[in-house]
Amino acid sequence: MTVDLVLMGLPGAGKGTQAAMIVEKYGIPHISTGDMFRAAIKEGTELGKKAKKFMDEGQLVPDEVTIGIVRERLAKEDCKKGFLLDGFPRTVPQAEALDNILNEMNRSIDYVIHIDVDREILMERLTGRRICRDCGATYHLVFNPPKQPNVCDKCNGELYQRDDDNEETVANRLEVNINQQQPLLDYYRNKGVLKTIDGNRKIEEVFQEVDTLIGSLDE
Ligand code: AMP
Repeated sequence: MTVDLVLMGLPGAGKGTQAAMIVEKYGIPHISTGDMFRAAIKEGTELGKKAKKFMDEGQLVPDEVTIGIVRERLAKEDCKKGFLLDGFPRTVPQAEALDNILNEMNRSIDYVIHIDVDREILMERLTGRRICRDCGATYHLVFNPPKQPNVCDKCNGELYQRDDDNEETVANRLEVNINQQQPLLDYYRNKGVLKTIDGNRKIEEVFQEVDTLIGSLDE
């Protein structure tokens, strides 16, 4: 039995948190194309050089490059039992390529787990970050507030909001991601593998539903 999963969700949906919990419980590798590109850039490989110029401009890395690294990664031994893809596919051609790669391995996506969070809640999560001017400590107005408003617990420094955490920039980022994600949700819904999970809840509650879903693959 294999557990072949794709994780989807907008920035702030809690994908990273759920991914960590899934890989811990099911012992499958977490395959994040963003992480793979960042590692390649750090190591200064050819792939890193190719990816860097697109990433610096906030563009997608071309499909042929991205599909190539995913193909190689899925061929590795640790994917025999399954995998959790995160950040891939991001385009319909990538989704089609993934189907072909898996087909060659006599496998197919079991579930696309879509962590769905209301836009207002995402805005709150993404714009609530505050940073200390003096020591750089980070806080969140709702999830990790300082003891006194706008004052750093550690050094009494003044807290500020980073430019790219402001409402307008965050709203734009969400808009771009919504437009990118929609065709993929449609693609997987049509294939009958899309599982949308209400992510407007506590981490544990969301994970419980994810876990029940993955557990059902056993039956
Ligand atoms: P992420 O960490 O998933 O937000 O990815 C960071 C950056 O890596 C993206 O903005 C893209 O430039 C690139 N990237 C990651 N995954 C993909 C993908 N599936 N297709 C194209 N580019 C990607």
